[in-house]
Amino acid sequence: MILTLKSDSKKQDIDKLTAKIKELGFTPHISRGAVRLIIGVIGEGEHKYKEVFESFDIVESATPIVKPYKLVSREFKKEDSIIDVNGVKIGGPRVVVMAGPCSVDTKENLFACARAVQRAGAHFLRGGAFKPRTSPYSFQGHGVTALKYLAEARKLTSLPVVTEVMDTRQVEVVARYADILQVGARNSQNFDLLKEIGQCKKPVMLKRGMANTIEEWLMSAEYIVSKGNRNVILCERGIRTFEPSTRFTIDLNAIPVIKHLTHLPILVDPSHGVGVRDYIPPIALAAIAAGADGVMVEVHPKPTEALSDGMQALLPVMFDKMMEDIRKVAEAVGKTL
Ligand code: PEP
Ligand code: MN
Repeated sequence: MILTLKSDSKKQDIDKLTAKIKELGFTPHISRGAVRLIIGVIGEGEHKYKEVFESFDIVESATPIVKPYKLVSREFKKEDSIIDVNGVKIGGPRVVVMAGPCSVDTKENLFACARAVQRAGAHFLRGGAFKPRTSPYSFQGHGVTALKYLAEARKLTSLPVVTEVMDTRQVEVVARYADILQVGARNSQNFDLLKEIGQCKKPVMLKRGMANTIEEWLMSAEYIVSKGNRNVILCERGIRTFEPSTRFTIDLNAIPVIKHLTHLPILVDPSHGVGVRDYIPPIALAAIAAGADGVMVEVHPKPTEALSDGMQALLPVMFDKMMEDIRKVAEAVGKTL
């Protein structure tokens, strides 16, 4: 339920209303709309209390939110959310690019990669420290050592760092080193992890599960936001289809659908979605053309030395060219890089 308050509402009356919301067992989420104060009353069965809320003088209107996700819906917030990460804005008129290796291997490779993507104009450095691998025998990531390397690479380049957190027990340490916590496709319905991350202050990039509908994905985002962390960035990374020529199938349809249904920004990760180096740049451009707020891609200076996903790592020279093309496409759709 969205309660829109009259513009001259006084603090003591707002306090009385929020006390009533809590007394009924709901959580009030206060947000400042373009002109009015809005209170989201979130919980189960809140629509039954429409008349109770309307009986408060300061309530101008009480409108039920029809969708199962509430706080992340456009119904709750009309304006696009812009997530500010160390001064870099995600979701505004500038498209953002996150780039770096799939997993952090050596310090030398990471630093070379960080310098290369920064020179080409990337805004964020990505790199896996804790890796979700299909096989238990595959490289699992260098863990905290990798987080430390990423923090050093940030110092070197000033690029904020994005890295994955796989488990509730890792949230604290990853949040200490990273600027954005990534929730991977395989964990996008790990509800305990989502709740834990929701209590953390760091922005979160939530990937779409490879077999999740858009509605399920938005319900996962709702888990994070309902715990108090509003800084969620969505990332389409491909879904499982019958087509074996590429690793997954990027659902470009999701971009306009997401823009319609939610105020949260959306990035696209063509590296995991496509999985074949040469096919990645065209899909990155298509994502920007379709209205994505940015892309995330894997880059490695020596892909044969990569400990994961070497086949889909762009060489720095390919990344340079992709960035030039992204600039042109961004301008063509009224944005900048
Ligand atoms: C990644 O970005 O490193 C990753 C593992 O991606 P996904 O969760 O989309 O497979
Ligand atoms: Mn990868």
